[in-house]
Amino acid sequence: MSPRRTKIVATIGPSSSSPEQLDALVAAGMDAARLNLSHGTHDDHSARAALVREAEERAGRPLALIGDLQGPKLRVGDLSVPLQLEQGDEITVVVGLNGNPGELPIAPAAIGEVLRPGHEVLIDDGLVRLQVEEVGSGRARCGVLVGGPVSSHKGVNLPGVPIPIPSLTRKDLEDLEFALGLGCDFIALSFVRAAADVRDLKALLEQEGSNAHVIAKIEKSEAVDVLEDVLAETDAVMVARGDLGVEIGPELVPLVQKRIISRALERGKPVITATQMLESMIHHPEPTRAEASDVANAILDGTSAVMLSGETAVGEYPVQAVRTMDRIARAVEPSLGYRHQIPEATEDPTIGNAMSNAACDLAEALGASAILVPTFTGRTASAVARLRPRRPIVALTHKRWSVHQMAIEWGVTPLWIPECKDVEDLWNRSIDAAKESGLVEAGDTIVITAGTAVNIPGSTNVIKVDVA
Ligand code: PEP
Repeated sequence: MSPRRTKIVATIGPSSSSPEQLDALVAAGMDAARLNLSHGTHDDHSARAALVREAEERAGRPLALIGDLQGPKLRVGDLSVPLQLEQGDEITVVVGLNGNPGELPIAPAAIGEVLRPGHEVLIDDGLVRLQVEEVGSGRARCGVLVGGPVSSHKGVNLPGVPIPIPSLTRKDLEDLEFALGLGCDFIALSFVRAAADVRDLKALLEQEGSNAHVIAKIEKSEAVDVLEDVLAETDAVMVARGDLGVEIGPELVPLVQKRIISRALERGKPVITATQMLESMIHHPEPTRAEASDVANAILDGTSAVMLSGETAVGEYPVQAVRTMDRIARAVEPSLGYRHQIPEATEDPTIGNAMSNAACDLAEALGASAILVPTFTGRTASAVARLRPRRPIVALTHKRWSVHQMAIEWGVTPLWIPECKDVEDLWNRSIDAAKESGLVEAGDTIVITAGTAVNIPGSTNVIKVDVA
């Protein structure tokens, strides 16, 4: 069976934390495992990361490990008993973790500086809505617009209100160190508000000597407003539709999703579409028709990967959820168009992009069985993938971290090869590895890109047509 091109990210949680369950998820098509550091203990996540690596070893196929930081998330503080709010009620919000009975504490306390009359306070993904009526020293009297139960630690959103807290909280810094210790290939940064948030995280990664790549989660209107700047800095993005829908309203999410995906594709950066993709499969073995359409449409939009959250972390049918995504992707992918780009001289030409255009065109024209892309960081493989060629992309690298990171890139089969001494050696080893993987057979026509200066990132400058 030919490889599925859209990748599948599964969040690992209590429903997917045994060796048997992980083997079944990998067999069903999981390409990347996400550890959501907003929930669970470090011990839970270490055990899960170890199980993922063991499952990867057994499967002989690279899996990316993603550590997802909580970021500057606002939350309800500690409530001794849940509150039941009714429409038309009044409730006093106090800032910080604790309040008196009948008050609603919201942390961190810094929100006290920004709450103003007229602001909306959305709790539990917007299921409960308050409006600020009056503010005074660390307190805000609010009217209840939409009532419901409110319990401790539920998420809180203040749409459109800039929050004066750093993008990496103390918890995030601890979680980051922990995630790097686990060998995470990606660090997902929640609630990105500016390109500087991504730059700061990248500076920390560099300081730590880490090769982990950053996934910027787009879930705030501020990030949508500066999307191009964020995309320029980040290695990958996630359309984090859960919080995004609370922040900008669910009705705006579909078009923003299309814009994020198409802009990420233009820049050759992997993009993950996330949240509620197969939500009903948390409790049911079959998706709704609307969910199947949602997954299909994200794939038609051009997403590199689709993500499961609660479905695989706490759901009753984690393996079926991955299988369902796999089936939908395979059904839809033949309808994806090859994004041929007419080469144009630009002010900022990149040889990598021009070479990948040419490699895809050659592979199409010759009916080649694969495009082989020896790469150091995976950037050239992403540049080829951005055109969504019909031919399989086989990416070859001697860097283990790069093999893992390419597991989320659309259409790319990443393979490890030993470090090569010169370009001839690189071509030969690449062809041998592609044949061993079964993607290419002896006698097949292949197109192969390379850099004559081997092992130097960004040096792709040759395309070769060869017979395997
Ligand atoms: C989201 O909000 O859609 C998301 C992916 O983030 P999290 O699951 O961390 O809330």
